[in-house]
Amino acid sequence: MQTDLLINGRLVPGEGAPEAILDPATGQEIVKVPEASTAQIDEAVAAAEGAFPAWAETTPAERSGLLLELARRIEAEGDAFAALESRNCGKPPARAREDEIPAIVDCFRFFAGAARCLPGSAAGEYLRGFTSMIRRDPVGVVASIAPWNYPLMMAAWKLAPALAAGNTVVLKPSEQTPLTTLRLARHLAGIFPPGVVNVVTGRGESVGAPLVGHDRVRMVSLTGDVATGEKVLAAAARSLKRTHLELGGKAPVIVFDDADLQAVVAGLRMFSFYNAGQDCTAACRVYAGPKIHDRLVADLTAAAASLKWGDPSGEGMDIGPLISERQRARVAGFVERAKAAAHIEVTTGGRPGSGAGFFFAPTVVSGARQEDEIVRKEVFGPVVSVTRFSDTEEAIAWANDSEYGLASSVWTKDVSRAMRVAARLQYGCTWINTHFMLCNEMPHGGLKRSGYGKDMSLYALEDYSVVRHVMVAH
Ligand code: NAD
Repeated sequence: MQTDLLINGRLVPGEGAPEAILDPATGQEIVKVPEASTAQIDEAVAAAEGAFPAWAETTPAERSGLLLELARRIEAEGDAFAALESRNCGKPPARAREDEIPAIVDCFRFFAGAARCLPGSAAGEYLRGFTSMIRRDPVGVVASIAPWNYPLMMAAWKLAPALAAGNTVVLKPSEQTPLTTLRLARHLAGIFPPGVVNVVTGRGESVGAPLVGHDRVRMVSLTGDVATGEKVLAAAARSLKRTHLELGGKAPVIVFDDADLQAVVAGLRMFSFYNAGQDCTAACRVYAGPKIHDRLVADLTAAAASLKWGDPSGEGMDIGPLISERQRARVAGFVERAKAAAHIEVTTGGRPGSGAGFFFAPTVVSGARQEDEIVRKEVFGPVVSVTRFSDTEEAIAWANDSEYGLASSVWTKDVSRAMRVAARLQYGCTWINTHFMLCNEMPHGGLKRSGYGKDMSLYALEDYSVVRHVMVAH
């Protein structure tokens, strides 16, 4: 198994403390991955800085060619990447293979194309006797820090736009899930000039924080928890680094009385529990109209109870384990505290699985009120709450009454109402009669404490580049 870091084009073992990487389905250790030492972090940043001038001068077509080659290699090894991702994260293998790998390959292909067609305003004589033009130039060395829920996809979301725009990168996967990124490192070494992409592993405090604080790093891109985002932003402020923060979410799902109940339930069965709910856009906070509420709770309860959860390698499994015992204890804590309230009922699930893996049953909570913790805080597990609203204004007010602002959805057959409500929701994304669907052409990112900065789409290329004005006197 490839566990070496990638520094300046060479695969080298980490010289820091070893981190045990676990299979969350069994709790067993898969392998130990040593983290980067302080000297190795410095080497990686120096390599990225050294590679930057030449990489920034490559043409979009040249960068595009290398991104396409990377996409080709991931596609060719799709089975192996998916199997490794599944093992390290506890995902059902089919989900990693059929959902994630194609989206990852497409991400590199999209940015390979996007690199070649950046839009901008026309050069012109905006002052008489002077010609002005806009340039879009790379920022420099980008430190990219990824979470554990979709490790290879997060690596793709971070690498593809940063490299397409001409930056060099030091990428740190989550200390819990580095394996697919380390496998990718071998291909990165074979494709990109030394130093253009570096991969260092390790924990937030020992490797992430030194990267964020490093004076040669010009931009920090983080996907992670809100608390981590606050720490990273405070540290980046000391050297005024550009930041790109994709943080947590608590997606509201507004279901009006006229919604297609069957479609809502089928949608929630998928979008509330996908990846065991460890998804920043998970459809976890349902507000149901007064007439549809009771049927929705009953049908969603039955649908959640029908999900197959357990050993992810089992036939037709919908849901595997949570990432760690710590994460499971956190999820269980939320559910226990909710259960303690007299007005809340757990209609299905609400319990951990048996055995050594970090399993938790798909859970539906009904009766929770707007002020309850289970409605307000990100659980990041297979838990969905359903709350009854009385009218549209209340639904919108409750949906927006959240620290988070990443994703939301509205379910109704009335197109006008859907558009009116969507316009008033304070979320980076609002889906209508669906949820969770992403595509590389469209931006993904939050408002409020969900952070800022867009992943995917041309907007990500904008985030990873600086707009410059060049003026010529005639
Ligand atoms: P986390 O914040 O614990 O860790 C994320 C990354 O930050 C890891 O690589 C970690 O090592 C690193 N890190 C931790 N402390 C750091 C520090 N002080 N300095 C620098 N780096 C540090 O998050 P997680 O538990 O891995 O992931 C779950 C969280 O990520 C959830 O809150 C989820 O909502 C969020 N998430 C958001 C999106 C999005 O697109 N908005 C996508 C996926 C996950």
